[in-house]
Amino acid sequence: MDYISSRVAGIHQGEIRALFDKAQGLSNVISFGIGEPDMDSPAEIVEAGSQALAQGMTHYTANAGIMELREAIAAKARQSRIPVDAKNCIVTPGGMGALALSILCTVNEGDDVMVQDPTWLNYLGQIKLVGGKPVFVPTYEDDGFKLTVEQLETYVTPKTRLLIINTPNNPTGSVLEYKDLMEIANFVKRHNLLVIFDEVYDSFLHRGKHESIATIDGMAERTIIVNSFSKSFAMTGWRVGYAIAPEAIIAKMTVLQENMFSCVNASAQYAALYALQHPFLQRPMLEEYAKRLEFMKSELSTIPKLSFFNPSGSFYIFLNITRTGLTSSEFAYNLLNKKHTVVIPGSAFGACGEGYVRIAYTLPITKLQEGLNRIREYVEELL
Ligand code: PLP
Repeated sequence: MDYISSRVAGIHQGEIRALFDKAQGLSNVISFGIGEPDMDSPAEIVEAGSQALAQGMTHYTANAGIMELREAIAAKARQSRIPVDAKNCIVTPGGMGALALSILCTVNEGDDVMVQDPTWLNYLGQIKLVGGKPVFVPTYEDDGFKLTVEQLETYVTPKTRLLIINTPNNPTGSVLEYKDLMEIANFVKRHNLLVIFDEVYDSFLHRGKHESIATIDGMAERTIIVNSFSKSFAMTGWRVGYAIAPEAIIAKMTVLQENMFSCVNASAQYAALYALQHPFLQRPMLEEYAKRLEFMKSELSTIPKLSFFNPSGSFYIFLNITRTGLTSSEFAYNLLNKKHTVVIPGSAFGACGEGYVRIAYTLPITKLQEGLNRIREYVEELL
């Protein structure tokens, strides 16, 4: 007898996981596949979490999270001109928890949900879980991998309810500027849509300033901001993220969280509060990533047959491999088999990712160098 519900039957392991599983069986692997900072969480944050435990923060917290953290999240948003307070904020198990609760609370069966192509994969499973239909909106390197209103207008349907925006973007590293967001906001208002604005990479900006769509007139009431401590403070394993949204949506998400996970780990919430109060703790990590990016760009530009989209944010580089004549899957699997090096095929992120592979430079420079040497050898052997 098959005990698996039809609701989850169509949800599968992503290609990224499949590649990691394959890499497990190989020796001396260099992985450019890992979408998380390689540094440990800053020691002071770990200490704040430990102290919380020692002081008895070992109990359930309020379902929406501890009030001090919700207030700190709201205060940070207000600094970015988003007019909210604690009742607009919920603390969730990572950004993924915020996304899951947002989608469960707002998408009905049969609704269309627009996502950028290429896209971070986990949106798709969550949309399918609620019976929604992901609608891929193509983006191209020539347009800086940005969503354009022209494409959005082509793909919007009477059933479209939600648009998911991710900036800085995984996997491309593109960033939407204020003028881009203004145009998208006009489109969203014209079609009366809701937006999930996933900004989990907002600390990883290579130039300019992170802009939020919620600051634009008439958008705060139709935007759910999703953010997380995972990437910005190297805290992936703590599982703390949050959503900022209109009060009615947060109230529903809170009731849903009560029924699903109760609350986020108490000590992790105190660690996250400490992180938010000490943003300078990010600095060493961000400086290291800036150095790595420059290193990667200068090395990659000397490898024949490859070019890359110059990223404006995130810790990914989307490498254009079309001139090798291989599909992205062939490129990635052959590279793994021959050189024990992991990159993620762009096709795993959607049809528009074909012709690219994603490289995460979440490794120390010595390892990056070794990995790039292997890629160079691999490409030269193709010539
Ligand atoms: N959103 C994007 C675009 C991501 O890449 C990730 C993680 O890789 C997340 C959300 C969720 O991160 P977390 O649940 O660790 O906060």
